[in-house]
Parts: sequence; structure tokens; C-alpha cells
Amino acid sequence: MLVQVALPVPLYRVFDYRIDAGNTLPQIGCRVQVPFGRQTLIGIVVAHVPLADSSIPPEKLKTIKQAVDHDPIIDPKLLSLAQWLARYYHYPLGDVFAVMLPTLIRQGKPLDLLITHWRIKPNVTDDDFHPSAHKQKQQFDMLKLHGKRGASEEVLLMEGMERPFLQRLEEKGLIEHYIEEKAPPAQVSLARMPLDLHHEQQVAVTRILKAHQDKCYTGFLLNGITGSGKTEVYLQVMQPILEAGKQVLILVPEIGLTPQTRARFASRFAGNMVMLHSGMSNTHRMQGWQDCRTGHAQIIIGTRSSILYPFADLGLIIVDEAHDASYKQQDTLRYQAADVALYRGVQHQIPVILGTATPTLEHLHLVDEGKLVECTLLTRAGRAKPAPMQLIDARLESTHYQNSQDGTRYDTGLTDKLLTAIRQTLEAGEQVLIFLNRRGYAPILLCGACGWQADCPRCDAHLTVHHTQGAERSSYLKCHHCDWQAYIPAACPDCGSQNLDARGMGTTRLSDNLHAIFGNPQTSKQTYPIIQIDRDTTRRKDSWEKIYQQISQGKPAILVGTQMVAKGHHFPSVTLVCLPNADRGFLSADFRSPEHTAQLMIQVAGRAGRGDKAGRVLIQTLQPENPLLLKLVKDGYLSFARQLLAERKLMGLPPYRHAALVRCEGKALSQTTQALRAAIAILPAKHQLAVLGPIDAPMTKKNSRYHSQLLLLAKDRAHLHQCLSHWWPQVLGLSESKYLRLSLDVDPAGW
Ligand code: ADP
Ligand code: ZN
Ligand code: ZN
Repeated sequence: MLVQVALPVPLYRVFDYRIDAGNTLPQIGCRVQVPFGRQTLIGIVVAHVPLADSSIPPEKLKTIKQAVDHDPIIDPKLLSLAQWLARYYHYPLGDVFAVMLPTLIRQGKPLDLLITHWRIKPNVTDDDFHPSAHKQKQQFDMLKLHGKRGASEEVLLMEGMERPFLQRLEEKGLIEHYIEEKAPPAQVSLARMPLDLHHEQQVAVTRILKAHQDKCYTGFLLNGITGSGKTEVYLQVMQPILEAGKQVLILVPEIGLTPQTRARFASRFAGNMVMLHSGMSNTHRMQGWQDCRTGHAQIIIGTRSSILYPFADLGLIIVDEAHDASYKQQDTLRYQAADVALYRGVQHQIPVILGTATPTLEHLHLVDEGKLVECTLLTRAGRAKPAPMQLIDARLESTHYQNSQDGTRYDTGLTDKLLTAIRQTLEAGEQVLIFLNRRGYAPILLCGACGWQADCPRCDAHLTVHHTQGAERSSYLKCHHCDWQAYIPAACPDCGSQNLDARGMGTTRLSDNLHAIFGNPQTSKQTYPIIQIDRDTTRRKDSWEKIYQQISQGKPAILVGTQMVAKGHHFPSVTLVCLPNADRGFLSADFRSPEHTAQLMIQVAGRAGRGDKAGRVLIQTLQPENPLLLKLVKDGYLSFARQLLAERKLMGLPPYRHAALVRCEGKALSQTTQALRAAIAILPAKHQLAVLGPIDAPMTKKNSRYHSQLLLLAKDRAHLHQCLSHWWPQVLGLSESKYLRLSLDVDPAGW
């Protein structure tokens, strides 16, 4: 027998290896060390094949160097998940594992690394060392610092101990190792009583639990307006599933959300909770991976990649804010975690809940096709009422504010109507949230004399003007796509004029101006804090926590935030939400832009009136007659989404067509276009795909590289995949593709 091994190399195949006579055959799902060219790689055994079936001539077959694992670390379900991902996203199996597995696992570290502990044997003292054995003594002292119980091997290695010395000291009988097994987890119990469900919640919980009792897969779209109590539905569905000893996985969009989410689940259940996110250290990730695999973790809250973890006994998957763009991975293996969640639901025969107030058109389409069961929550839980939305026509209004005391004028980008509403809200002791999806001071630096604009030398993009806050205010220009930074020139590089003007409104500028109006004790009787929430102000560790705590005190304040504030936060004191220019996205060229813009607007609007007091939402617009905007404001998200679906159907776009996008990146557009043309030329004969392109990518030049793209659309998903599976590896092998970066994006998020 030979073993077939998936290796982390960008080749669309697995590799056959022999086993030395006398050695046992490594089981499927074990890691092995193998020679590959001049290197040694670690791979996963994915199959056993008879020697006669190998396509490699016997004399050319190599032998594995050694088996890393005794027992499989990849169970059959995880293996078939990896194989499905490789097939569906047309990505090499070995590279799928490279995305799926924690770094330490890929490096071949033993699974018990974290539970292997070392301690000094009783009665061993310093006198047991020969005076000349400096190094040994020094290593021994490191262990001594940990006292009687010693420490885990991982910790010791991190502190600078060397593995050979651990072994040598053990051979000399001075130290010993032991395995610290984790105790099996106790049954999850209720830490706090559940709420009384309202009728719609009750219906949803009953339906979802039926699937659990029947031990079968069902995908649910929990379509509930913001504040309708989706989390309470999750909690009450989880309870019997956890009590049955099963694990529950909750996917959340972003790390910023996890502390609040954790608190909500931890206050209901007493059990082992694990948080999985990209900010974890390698050891943490490996520990989390093991805890999920062994069943030690009972409630798992994680971002996108946790859908690729192994689970001992999974009973339920919840995808919270299922519409969120962060569920799609935008590089390497471009998977969509909500889709993978549905696949895993089928694999494990368990219910999957996609919860959101703004379902994607894809998910609504799956409901239409009978592939998802829809549960709707149309009323807000508790006493909160949905906040009405109102349009403010900004075309004829000035957005300049003049301070009555010193006459200074500020451009706030906000009409008088908005400013009045803000003032009233603050004076009523409530909070205001202003959504502005642009961080920095201003998006453009413009020469007033000749029209020159500060552009990024590496991208097709303007540089954003930034002012750092704090004692030393300094200003600089920055590209938000490649992070290029430059000083603000003293004069225009084209015409020499010193009339350089920051144009447009970023969160810093808006916060500054609002501070001048509402936060300055010299000009205003009553002052209010202005809290800026964006990537710049929350970059530092814990800064988001601090901001969140300040908001939670409930004192009147103005929050100015980018789309970070759209993500499911509970701000009970916010009663007024302002969207000064959010509807601009309706004009964008990307066909998904209206959908995303509407989702964002509804999500931000949903932050209003979540407490006892009623809320309202003011949308300031320069296009008050835009039919899309009117539809959304008058009829709400669902009917807006239905209209978009009808348009997509008419135009033959997803979800009525299945899409794959080829992106090509290189040093010159001529090369990238040529490669894509060559790719089109080798498409299978008689294919039934619509081929659009090659065209220049929306941002053609980025980071000094040029981007072209090619879109393939198919009526039939199976046909698309059939074409791709032969064609794509060939495209990568084309001579025109050399020195270029090509990627395939199945079900792309946009184009
Ligand atoms: P969503 O996730 O749908 O936006 P949440 O789950 O955050 O809504 O719920 C909004 C608020 O309503 C929370 O404060 C929650 O505690 C409360 N709530 C949820 N369900 C009920 C219920 N059945 N009775 C009373 N309050 C509820
Ligand atoms: Zn100029
Ligand atoms: Zn740039």
C-alpha cells in the first residue's frame, strides 16, 4: 500500500509515497513528514492506494520520512470538508489544509505539546550538577522558577529552554515529564433564567428545535428586524442542545463584537466557552483547535475561520449578522463562511441559523427555492419600537454653521435641520449617532488655483488628509488602500499656489467641528462629549472597550462612527441616528452596491431607539427622488430587496446566475489582459458560459500593480464547476500566466 499525501504546494494534485517495510501504514488523517524535491514537507494522509494504482513508476516513488501522528488528527468529516472546499473553490487540497490548520499543527508540533508538562524530580538539588555543567544548570534553573508543578513544554520553550536539554536532563534522572489531561467538561447549566419569549420568538424556537429533535439538517433564515430579540432566540435554541452535551458554534462578523457577545452568552450559560479570532497567538489557536476537537469547548464564539475547525460533537451553528461582508474571505481560499456553515450543517445533520435584519439576496433566493426555512420577527422585543426614517433634502440647504458668539463658520456637512435635531436630543439627555463612512480628516486635498489633487503614486486613489490627535497635532496624507504616507506639501507641486484645500468630510473633521459647536465651553453653555469610533480610534488594544464603556454610561453624547457602528451593537441611550450622506452608495457602479448600501443604512438605523425611549432616523440626501432610496425608506428593507431581486432576475445576475471571477495582477495591463485573453481561448469547447472581459478591475492600479478581471456567469452551477475544474489548472499553467498573479473567486462578493 501507498499513502496519498496532500502537501502545501500550489499544485492541483496529491502525492504518492511508500512506507518503509516494517513500518505501520499511517492512518488517513495523520500528518507525515515527506521528502519533496530538496525539501522536507509536512502533509496529511488523505488516502491509501495499492502500489499498482499509482501513476508514478515504482522506481520513482519516494518513501515517507516519518509519521508525525499515531492517531488521525483530521477526522473523516473534516477531511471531506477540506475535499469539498478544494472542489468548490477550485483550490489545491494541500493549500486548503494550509488555510484550515493552525500554524503549529502545520509545523508538525505534537498535539500534546500544550499538555506535556515538565517538573523537577523530588530530592534533586543544585548539588546534583557538576560545576562545569553551566548550560545544564542554567536550563535547570529556568525550570526551577516554576516550582513543584513545573510548566508546560510550550511555555518552557518560549522562555528559552531547549528541547535537547529537556531530554538530557530527563535521561540523567533530574527532571521528568507528565501529561496534564483536561478533565472532561461538566454539563452546561443555566446561569440565569431565560426571558419569556414573545410569540414570534416562540414560533422560531419551536421550529428550529424540531430540526434538532429530528436529528436532521435544516437551514433557517432568522429574519428579524434590529432589536427584535434574535439573540434570545439563539439562547433558547442553544439550551436543550447544550444540555444534550453537544457543542454550539456561533459565528460573529468581527473581533470588536466578541467581548459583548461573549458577555451575553456567558451570563446565560455556565460552561466552557472558547473565543476564536485572528488576534490569537499561535499557541492559543492550537489550544482552541484542540478544545473544539476534543469536545472540551462547549460554546464556541468565533470569526470566519472558526467554521473550518474540527468539532467533537457539534449540535448547532449560528451565523450572526449573516449578511456581513466579513464572512467572505478575500484572499487565498476565497470561501464564504455562511455557505460553509450550511455545508457543515448537512454534514453533521444539525440545524444552522442565519440570523440577520437585512438578509442578502442570495439567502432570500434560497428561501424562494425552498432551501432555507424563513422565520420572521417583525416586532421589537420589550418596549422598544422601530425607529421611523425621515428624509432631509440637502440640495438647497447650507451646511455651514456660524457660531453666534465669535462668528466663526464651520462646514459640518450637516443641515440646520440635523443640527437642531441633534441639539434637541442632547438637551433631552439622550445620545446621537452620526454615521459617516470615511475615516480621517478629509478625503481630498485640492489645489484651489489649478485643480491638482493629491493622489497616491501607487494606486488609482486620492490620498486622505489625516490630522493626528493629541498634544502634537501633525498632519499628513495617507492612502487607505496601500498605506502610502506623505507630508502635506506647502505649495501645489503643479502650479506653486499655496491655496491648498482639504475637501470633503471625514470622521475626524466632523468630530472636530461638532466639538466646536457642542463641546467647547467658551461657545456653548452646556457641553457634550464627541466620541469618534473608527479604525483609527479603536486600533489600540482595549480602546474599543473603553469607548464602549463610556457610551454605556448613557450620558448625552454624540457618537461619530464609520461602518464599525453598524455591527449589531446595543447602544440603549441612542435615540437619534443621522445618516448625512450614506445613500451615495446607490450611485456606485458595482451591481451589489445598492444591496450593501441598504443593508448598511438599515443596520445603522437599527441602533436608534433600542432602549425604553423611542428613536428616529434622519437621512440627509442630495438625491431625494432616487427611487431606490424612496423604496427603502417607505417600504422597508425586505420590499426593497424583493425589488432588487426582480431586477437581478431580469438582468441575469446572481443569485439567478452563478458567477466566478478571475483576477489577474501584474506589472503592466498589457500582460494581464493578454493572459486573460489566452485563458478565454482555452475555455472548453461548447461551454455555455457568459464570458465578460477581460476588463480593467474597478481599481486598476493598486500598490503599483495592475489588475484585470474576467467574469464567467452560468445558469447552471454544475456546468460552471465542470468547466472550471478542467480549465482553471490549465490557465495557471499557461505561459502567458508566468510572473502574474491569478486568482479564482467563486461566488465573488462584487465586481
Ligand atoms: P437583535 O439581535 O434582534 O437586534 P437583541 O437580541 O439584541 O435584538 O434584543 C434587543 C433587546 O430586547 C435586548 O435588550 C434583549 O434583552 C431584549 N429582549 C429580547 N427578547 C425579549 C423578550 N422576549 N422579552 C423582553 N425583552 C427581550
Ligand atoms: Zn495647483
Ligand atoms: Zn495607495
